[in-house]
Amino acid sequence: MQKYKNIFSPINIGRLRLPNRLVVPPMGTNYAREDGHLTDQFYDYWQERAKGGWALLIVEVTAVDPLGKAIPRQPGIWNDEYIDGFKHLTSIAHEHGTKIAVQLHHAGRQTYRDNIGGKQPVSSSSIPCPSCQAAPHKLSTAEVYELIEKFGDAALRAKKANFDAIELHGAHGYLIAQFMSPYSNKRSDEFGGDFESLMRFPQEIIRNTRRKIGADFPIIFRFSADEMVPGGRTVDQSRAVACFLEKEGINALHASIGVYGSMEYIIPSYEIPRAFNLHNIGEVKKAVNIPVIGVGRIHEPELAEEAINTGKADLVAMGRQSLADPYLPNKLAAGAQEEIAPCISCLQRCMGYLFNPEELEISCLVNPFCGREGEMNVYPSDQQKRVLVVGGGPGGLEFAWLTASRGHQVSLYEREDEVGGQLKAGAMGPNKQEIIKVIKYYRSMLKKYNVEVHLNQELNRETILEKDPDCVVIATGARPLYPDIEGLENNQKVVSAIDVLEGKVTTGHSVLIVGGGQTGSETADYLVDIGRKVTLVEMLSEIARDVEDPIRLFLLDRLKSYGTDIYTNCQVKKFTDDGIIAELEGKEVELSGFDNIVLALGVEPINHLKSELENTGKEIYIIGDAAEPGRAGKAIEDGARLALRI
Ligand code: SF4
Repeated sequence: MQKYKNIFSPINIGRLRLPNRLVVPPMGTNYAREDGHLTDQFYDYWQERAKGGWALLIVEVTAVDPLGKAIPRQPGIWNDEYIDGFKHLTSIAHEHGTKIAVQLHHAGRQTYRDNIGGKQPVSSSSIPCPSCQAAPHKLSTAEVYELIEKFGDAALRAKKANFDAIELHGAHGYLIAQFMSPYSNKRSDEFGGDFESLMRFPQEIIRNTRRKIGADFPIIFRFSADEMVPGGRTVDQSRAVACFLEKEGINALHASIGVYGSMEYIIPSYEIPRAFNLHNIGEVKKAVNIPVIGVGRIHEPELAEEAINTGKADLVAMGRQSLADPYLPNKLAAGAQEEIAPCISCLQRCMGYLFNPEELEISCLVNPFCGREGEMNVYPSDQQKRVLVVGGGPGGLEFAWLTASRGHQVSLYEREDEVGGQLKAGAMGPNKQEIIKVIKYYRSMLKKYNVEVHLNQELNRETILEKDPDCVVIATGARPLYPDIEGLENNQKVVSAIDVLEGKVTTGHSVLIVGGGQTGSETADYLVDIGRKVTLVEMLSEIARDVEDPIRLFLLDRLKSYGTDIYTNCQVKKFTDDGIIAELEGKEVELSGFDNIVLALGVEPINHLKSELENTGKEIYIIGDAAEPGRAGKAIEDGARLALRI
């Protein structure tokens, strides 16, 4: 494609010829078994990406030692028993003409005892990780040499398993990085002190690995170009690291960013600017003559093309974008860019799921198939049905195009003047405009599969029956919940958070928000940003508890910087004409004098059509918030799962 001629030009990493510049970087999925062996889920996930047209897949954090696991179900390569499983994986990639590498990893101090059989983590020094907190055992010099052998042995196993390359994980504050950085290495033996000594651990690993896998087997080294913590390595120092690694015979560098203490940069949300790491990547590239893979919220093909064109990177890794759409390269090559499902950097189902004890494995808000590739399959339907979808929110949209793609005749009715539902309100806060990309993607997919879209039409039982569909899918969403609290009914100053975010009402200057979950907190963020004075009350001990931490910290900072008054552990007892009476830590308080009171106390389903359409002979289904309120990802998953069985 002319527009993306740099992306679609070949390049070599050592002897390894790659047809384009797009890479799936290693991301912990938690799809392996606790003993480190691979699963069908793992194979299916990677097979999908192998089919997508990427030049190189780099398989996630693979432990060279059981003590080095960072997550419970991380793949292992610490003995020969693992070779056959990886042989199967590489055969899958090669069947689809894709090259595949494996990332060799040891977490060091950046783990929890639960991940490593209750044992004590190890590190270059005894300083605890500021995030994981456990005090590590400082490795003795002899133990360091043992680990160097383990990296080399693991690399040999990778070669035997037919990987095309290996990547050494020296980024993100894991063990190799713990040795490389003055932030975490305070040793006084040959592995600590001056620059040469800080680099000795990776140097010995590279040399040992080379001895075991041969001079021409491609080795990629991943490191953080800036650790983004006080006392951590900066990009200026990283240039010297890059030169050093090149001299040691590395075939490519993979320039990432951050350590666990700066996690918000390792997995950047929409709060961090797009392609924010590109300057650092460019500085690394200037220092070396080997290819540099750049990473860090480079989701749009235009940004990737620009990065290569301007000489800042040679290849671009798209992590979460490959979760959202494993077929990005093929769609781009086919000129179907508008059909690429966008990563919106929300963190909800990737990082959010990985650290959620109820989920513990990644998926994706816009791609519910991610991680369920073997379980959720799209087949053409045997019999075409006329399907009517009531509601154009995320669940209805996902359902509509997917069902139409299976051969059904689908029409969608939306009562508003545009589709999007809760996604529209969700996009209104500062930095949340990425969410609009999902609505645009859905519009493209509806058009592609000829879904009839009717706007400004609210259907009822009679109008639905007049249209005589075979199936009706109720995706009517939810409405704000008005609890039974004295003074709320007919209170002229009360408005709903959703109406505020959607611009249906304009508040006065002084606003009280009741409810400090995600919706209430983000409404506060929106209002302070447009100059309102906001007071926020929440019955729990913290606000925005349901927002992912790397996003929450920016949100809280902004609220603080605008002087938002926040009351937690505050239970509303009564609404007054211009405020509330509440119980705050055992005492009754009155908050008054507000121009508006914004209600953010949750939602209730709009589902009356379900009972009204019973016994009409139609197939009736209900999805999304209309079935049970939740976040947008739940509605999208509901829509996708139903679309597969109509
Ligand atoms: Fe991107 Fe959100 Fe999907 Fe994560 S869950 S991959 S951030 S769209």
